Amino acid sequence: MPLKKARIPLVLAELAVLYPTAPIALDFQSPFQLLVATILSAQCTDVRVNLVTPALFAAYPTPQAMVKATQKQVETLIHSTGFFRNKAKNILGASAAILHDHGGEVPRTLEELVALPGIGRKTANVVLGDAFDIPGITVDTHVGRLSRRLGFTKQTDPVKVEFALNTLIPQPDWTIVSHRLILHGRAVCFARKPACERCTLAGICPKVGV
Ligand code: SF4
Repeated sequence: MPLKKARIPLVLAELAVLYPTAPIALDFQSPFQLLVATILSAQCTDVRVNLVTPALFAAYPTPQAMVKATQKQVETLIHSTGFFRNKAKNILGASAAILHDHGGEVPRTLEELVALPGIGRKTANVVLGDAFDIPGITVDTHVGRLSRRLGFTKQTDPVKVEFALNTLIPQPDWTIVSHRLILHGRAVCFARKPACERCTLAGICPKVGV
C-alpha cells in the first residue's frame, strides 16, 4: 500500500478514468435555480429534486418571482422532497436576501453565500463550483465517507473534511473531484456494504473503517 502522499494522486487519476466528465446531477438554468435545487437536495435524491423543480421553476424562476410566493405555495410544490417546511422557509429567506442585499444576483463568494439564510458551506460550494466555475469542495455524506475510507482524512466533521481535502487536491480539481467521489459512493463504495470486490481502487485503497 503506497504512503498517503503517493497514494492520493493515484486515487485521483483512477477516479478521473472512472468518471471523466462527472457532471452535477441536478437540473438548473441559472445560479439561483441551482441554489434552490441544492437546498431541496438535502436528505433527498437528485432524481426526486429533478422531478419537483420543473414546476417550481416554471412558477418562480427567479428570486424576484420567488419572493412573491407564499410559504404555503412553495411547500405544496416541494412537498415530496421532505423537510418541506424548513426548505420552503430557506428558499424564501435566501430569495429575499438575494433580492435586497445583492440586487437580485446570487453572490459569487463563499462568505456572501453562507451569509444567506439557510445556506451552509456545502450548498455554497455547489453553487460556486457548478454555477460560477469557482472551485469548491462539496462535503456531503458520500464525500465524507469516501475521504475517510480512502485514507484522505480521519475527520468526521464536514468542514474539517473540506479543509483536509483542500490541502490534498489541486484547487482546479476541487469541484470535479467532489462529483467523482459522490458518483463512486453511489455506484460502488456504498455506505453499508462497499463493493470492494469490484472496485478498481481496491489495490490503492486502505479501506479505513470498512
Ligand atoms: S476499495 Fe472498497 S472502501 Fe475502497 S473505495 Fe473501493 S469500495 Fe470503497
